[in-house]
Amino acid sequence: MSLRNLSDQKLIADTKMWNEKEEHCTRQFLRHINEVNRRRLFCDDKTDSLFKYIRKNFNKSDSETSRRVLAAKTLRHVPSADKALANKQVTLTNLAEVSALVGNIKSSKKKNEILNSIKGKTQARELVDELTGKKRTTRSKTCSHSDGSLRIHLTLVGQTAKDYEFIKEQLSNNGIYKPEDVIGHVINSTAESMRKKITGIGSRKSKVIINPRTISAAIKKAVIARSGNKCENCGSKYNLHFDHIIPYSISKTSTIGNVRQLCSNCNARAAIVALSQTKMDLYINQS
Ligand SMILES: [Zn+2]
Repeated sequence: MSLRNLSDQKLIADTKMWNEKEEHCTRQFLRHINEVNRRRLFCDDKTDSLFKYIRKNFNKSDSETSRRVLAAKTLRHVPSADKALANKQVTLTNLAEVSALVGNIKSSKKKNEILNSIKGKTQARELVDELTGKKRTTRSKTCSHSDGSLRIHLTLVGQTAKDYEFIKEQLSNNGIYKPEDVIGHVINSTAESMRKKITGIGSRKSKVIINPRTISAAIKKAVIARSGNKCENCGSKYNLHFDHIIPYSISKTSTIGNVRQLCSNCNARAAIVALSQTKMDLYINQS
């Protein structure tokens, strides 16, 4: 039926009804993706994160996905946020804004205080800055392009702007440096040191590693040669662990055929499948 034939009154009533349905659906979507996350089901889809799983399977942009993943995280940390969302006391954006804050706090009382402080607010960002004592040193607008490039409008303020000038000055001793050269240099060198830190074998601890010491250095080397130092399920390069395909407690063997490299999420998923969700809920970090 064409909406043109609706009376004014009916059109307004229906618009309100569809808005309520949309809010209800969003809330249900957040609850469902949290359960997908708890089970690490995105690993079965060969993706290394809930974010990538949603991007791949649902028709949502980066920012829509990010807002939902972060808001869902807040719901995990502050269960009463679900009711506040249902009662329209908080917005999806504000729940997303406080996700990092509530994720770093242990006290349930403080988490609830943060939730209460964003109720009825249109912008939680200032509150987050105030509570974390953070002064934003950059403002940006990003735009992803289909060729993989990223366009960023970046404004540096305060000390960050001074640091930028300092880096540019130091680099310019070797020639003229344009802004993009400076930013590129900083990103490349930071990423390189982060990668070294993240992929360092045995440097990351995981609660679901099963007897890692029983795997010899030679086997580890051979497994890395096979995997290309990536998760052998989803291809992630981060938070890698060695995993026994058949648990060591049963197989008592750490041959190359029984050892694989998995990222922490795929490792957790494999443990859930092998040992049950109930058992692994005790060990898997749900933050
Ligand atoms: Zn993985």
